[in-house]
Amino acid sequence: NNHNLYAALRAAFPADLDSTAVETVGGATAGLRYSWRDLERASAMMANLLDSMKLPEGSRIAVQVEKSVEALVLYLATLRAGHVFLPLNTAYQAGEIEYFIGNAEPAVVVCSPANFGWVSKIAFKAGTRHVFTLGDDRTGSLLERAAHHSDVHTPVQSMAGDLGVIIYTSGTTGRSKGAMLSHGNMLSNARVLREYWGWQPNDVLIHALPIFHVHGLFVAIHGALINGSPMLWLNKFEPRAVVELFPRATVFMGVPTLYTRLLAEPGLTKQQVARMRLFVSGSAPLLIETFDEWKQRTGHTILERYGMSETVMITSNPYAADARFGGASERRGGTVGFPLPGNELRVVDDANQPVPVGEIGAIQVRGPNVFKGYWRMPEKTAEEFTADGFFKTGDVGRVDDRGYVSIVGRSKDLIISGGYNVYPAEVEGYINEMAGVAESALVGVPHPDFGEVGVAVVIAKPGASVNADEIVSGLKARLANFKIPKRCFVVDELPRNTMGKVQKNLLRDRYKGLFA
Ligand code: ATP
Ligand code: MG
Repeated sequence: NNHNLYAALRAAFPADLDSTAVETVGGATAGLRYSWRDLERASAMMANLLDSMKLPEGSRIAVQVEKSVEALVLYLATLRAGHVFLPLNTAYQAGEIEYFIGNAEPAVVVCSPANFGWVSKIAFKAGTRHVFTLGDDRTGSLLERAAHHSDVHTPVQSMAGDLGVIIYTSGTTGRSKGAMLSHGNMLSNARVLREYWGWQPNDVLIHALPIFHVHGLFVAIHGALINGSPMLWLNKFEPRAVVELFPRATVFMGVPTLYTRLLAEPGLTKQQVARMRLFVSGSAPLLIETFDEWKQRTGHTILERYGMSETVMITSNPYAADARFGGASERRGGTVGFPLPGNELRVVDDANQPVPVGEIGAIQVRGPNVFKGYWRMPEKTAEEFTADGFFKTGDVGRVDDRGYVSIVGRSKDLIISGGYNVYPAEVEGYINEMAGVAESALVGVPHPDFGEVGVAVVIAKPGASVNADEIVSGLKARLANFKIPKRCFVVDELPRNTMGKVQKNLLRDRYKGLFA
């Protein structure tokens, strides 16, 4: 019994291998059709190339390339050859790449043709012997070399615990950590989601997310492949193109900003999405406003789910009635739904004791989806697991009496003011509802009397003007005094990492001297 993830995905390919697996939309290679047989043969050729290089067991294949179907093929090839895929965000620059390559010591590096000069220099310095290029227009030395190899390949025999991917966390709270995921971690999650989201034989997925991250690589790609469903593939997210594709598709997955950008498209109407079955959001909190507006405009209720690099998916709002939770089927905005089947989730206090229903605490999870540990960080790994094997997610939240989980923030972003806990998400929620406000972030900064106090950083809606003092006075009528930000700043933008997540550590740094 082979637990190799590629073998499992391959087993789910449809009987007609000549039907379409991927169709490209937009970009340099628009309008190409890849059959299931194409995916099988192209990944076999690349796997044979990797085999021919006689790499040591567990070799990392680090990949920083623009999104393309060939990059997906390289991922599949790495799995079937039994090596470890290590995707890197395309936005990373030389200093960052130097850290990742130095840290991961990959045997093979694949980069964009345009970056070969500087990436190969970094790679060779770190001891990497093989550097290939791969363009998003089917160019580069990787494909040239793979073309000389056979298109028949037997996937290696893998155990469920064998390492398949190292995925670096987004670096929202500090330096990125390499999360080591096994074939079994990813496969168990893919199977659970296929069931939980009711994947159907006629499903078609619009794939418009980057593939260096859990959402695009695992949730979206594994979801389609393990159901034998075709993908409409965009190398870059383009809202108008996505709206035009809706009549041909049934499933769409996006981060919250993709939904707000789609809402700005006049072509987004009920009629245009009449055939769609499922809209999934995750990776960052979905504003209630977006959730409500989407429902009004399209008639569809976005299904929000929660996960992280270390665990793949942890919770999801129900797609259909969930018997484990009294048959609840409502997708509730502002919540991330129920723990996925097979996944244990608990909310605990500082002493690791479960808190009463409805109360806020640290979220911990345990299950077959939870990673093996951080790459080359044994102490950090040990710190983040409890004695009974739960992983400390670093997120803070609560579970209500119906079982819905809500995230209120990250433990690192918690503010303790005069001994009271302030949960940024709660205060931000009130600020976001105020007239003219597009978005906000509350961060804690040192204060001589209170230890810490909240500082609100606010973005106005385009064309609107927002007054910082009015925001503070508006909050006073609605919140306890210890939750009221002591200062408020209206700024043009919030610092974000390359995944679009707000980097509160940078805001804390910016304002740390305010009361010192
Ligand atoms: P780092 O760990 O390096 O600081 P990161 O935690 O942002 O970065 P990821 O693993 O990509 O890196 O992101 C996982 C985090 O994203 C979760 O821990 C959670 O805080 C957040 N997240 C994911 N989905 C949701 C959601 N639906 N609602 C709120 N937060 C979410
Ligand atoms: Mg994290």
